[in-house]
Amino acid sequence: MNNYFNEVFSSFVSFHLEFSPGHRVIDIFSSCFSFYLSSKCKDNNFKAHIQQLDNLVIESLSIFSHTLVITDTSIKNNIATSISHTYIHNKPIIKALYHAVNIMSTKAELFTIRYSINQATNFNDVLKIIIVTNFIHTAKKIFNLTSHSFQSYAASILNKLRSFFFHHQENVIEFWKCPSYSNWPLHKVVDKEMKSFNLIPLFSCKSSWDFSKKKECDNIANRWRMIFQASDLKGKHFLDLIDSNDNIIELLYIKDSSWLKFFGHFNSLCIRASRAIINHALINEYRLRFFPKEEFSCSCGLYPIETRCHILYECRWFNEY
Ligand SMILES: [Zn+2]
Repeated sequence: MNNYFNEVFSSFVSFHLEFSPGHRVIDIFSSCFSFYLSSKCKDNNFKAHIQQLDNLVIESLSIFSHTLVITDTSIKNNIATSISHTYIHNKPIIKALYHAVNIMSTKAELFTIRYSINQATNFNDVLKIIIVTNFIHTAKKIFNLTSHSFQSYAASILNKLRSFFFHHQENVIEFWKCPSYSNWPLHKVVDKEMKSFNLIPLFSCKSSWDFSKKKECDNIANRWRMIFQASDLKGKHFLDLIDSNDNIIELLYIKDSSWLKFFGHFNSLCIRASRAIINHALINEYRLRFFPKEEFSCSCGLYPIETRCHILYECRWFNEY
């Protein structure tokens, strides 16, 4: 029983440490981890990035203290599969394949990163761990200490990294982005191996919390879309917002929603934007609905009715602002 309490207590302490300002890995070892992204298009910067990856392999395989890990994750028929190939100087490649039903790809990728770090740190002489992944945004979640649903995974990885960085002052970890479309040879190998793995679950399976949440959010957003299309509940005044390519911004329930991220940070702005979207704002077009005998032209003097459309797209009084 004592062992049980010791275990719970030590995991609580490590979890607590990873989120206490001043004690966190990102505070104490801020120079020990780095990210190398690539540009999206196949321009010169992208070619240079791929060239750097090639150099990385040559360097990693010739230096005994470097460990190179190539990972990839995919989801097919609700089965998340993640894979890693770990290259350590003069040692056979360590291959790991992980699969789970009804979980998010983020969790599968974090599991594989965690496993790879554990593998690498088992060797005492490793000074540098290099992780090459298509999921660099997932790797960034490890060091993102704002609230998210993968914090327990992040905390356990950080805890492992804390011991690794503490062990030797030269110990570092690097995360390199390698997009699947780059067809970079080592990544292509893991990608191909992962896709060749076909699993058909034989029994009904449980769903993870975040998977269930995403499923429920998708259902809600689909219901909204159907209601908006099939009924007039949306109202004729509802303002469809468009993106930079003139496409209507779709409704989203998660990831701070598609619109809220632009104005949700400031209450008064959020209220004004919401009133503009539903056309329930103190402008003359709105007043006209209740007081048709009053003056309702725009104060710029150029438009007979101060409409929302005029204010947003034409009026010189407002568009300067
Ligand atoms: Zn005007």
